[in-house]
Amino acid sequence: MVKMKNILVLGGGGFIGGHLAKRLKEEGNFVRVVDIKKHEYFDVNEICSEFLTYDLRDPKNVEAVMRLEVVKGFPREFSYYKQPFTDVVGFDEVYQLAADMGGAGYIFTGNNDANVMHNSAMVNLNVVHESVKTGVKKIFFSSSACMYPEHNQLDPNNPNCEESTAYPANPDSEYGWEKLFSERLYLAYHRNHGLDVRVARFHNIFGPQGTWKGGKEKSPAAMCRKAAETPDGGELEVWGDGLQTRSFLYVDTCVDKILSFVRQDGFNGPVNIGSEEMVSINELAQMAIDVSGKNIKIVNLIGDDFVKKYGFKCPMGVRGRNSDNKLYTEKMGSDIVYPLKDGIRKTYQWIYEQVIK
Ligand code: NAD
Repeated sequence: MVKMKNILVLGGGGFIGGHLAKRLKEEGNFVRVVDIKKHEYFDVNEICSEFLTYDLRDPKNVEAVMRLEVVKGFPREFSYYKQPFTDVVGFDEVYQLAADMGGAGYIFTGNNDANVMHNSAMVNLNVVHESVKTGVKKIFFSSSACMYPEHNQLDPNNPNCEESTAYPANPDSEYGWEKLFSERLYLAYHRNHGLDVRVARFHNIFGPQGTWKGGKEKSPAAMCRKAAETPDGGELEVWGDGLQTRSFLYVDTCVDKILSFVRQDGFNGPVNIGSEEMVSINELAQMAIDVSGKNIKIVNLIGDDFVKKYGFKCPMGVRGRNSDNKLYTEKMGSDIVYPLKDGIRKTYQWIYEQVIK
């Protein structure tokens, strides 16, 4: 029988963190989730044993949440503690997914650069430091494919995101630079303090129970929402020429792959967790349209027309990006595969239900 673990999920009120925490709870572990906000779509009892609402930018809060005594008799629902307990519990596993992030409209316009860098770096500086102080057994850090250099992603048909190509560094967003800095931070704590870290670079994770409107949604959710909202015979707007390429990994597979990575010993990463099924953004839009069963025309909005409508330049990101899974497969002995169409079908169904609510 697998021993129950004490697990901390930071950022578990968010999309991937919520799915991950749910799985960890289903395994029978004690799961504490910490986030600045509650999960929008999961009920707290579905995803954790205990939900704490704290801002992890504040070192005092991080000290508190990583030190709170895990008492089995505590209420399992929302429990807000006024002051830190003094008992130190070294969590068996910590998953650090808290970050100030969003889709292209949030990351690539430049308007949120200072917040993105400051907020996420503060969280990581606090968390890694407290992990050493409290004797955390293992900590997972979620980096991003956005840290790869722009110059290897100019050709939409031939991007190179092999882990070894990270340097010389040249990410195309401040979000990517923060991830690169934080990767190095976790690895430095590993070298200097023996902290057992796992660093993965996610490539566009998507699925149900994620942000699907409001400006922070990523392209698969945006396409599914637009397809769900557009009437039969209507038009679906795609930002840019739609020829830029990406790959997208379904969230359940992402969770499987995180857990396999964390629960092996000897390989700290960084390693890609993504899909190698690369599509253009227009192909992604067409997939969502096909799944909707409607007859919808794609309209690409570019250049001055885009600026006229939105008041800022179209945020495109790099021209091409695809996960390279050779290293993951070699180290973990398993591939990362989930058909994009199947994931889009499940995501569309969930978003459609939200739209008609
Ligand atoms: P998300 O925005 O849904 O989740 C992040 C969570 O962090 C949110 O719930 C947010 O409230 C929380 N958070 C932010 N600042 C906080 C603070 N100061 N204190 C406490 N909580 C705070 O994003 P996600 O898609 O679930 O991504 C999770 C992680 O994976 C992030 O680190 C992200 O950068 C990384 N990542 C995600 C993708 C993707 O495609 N979704 C790709 C690459 C990397």
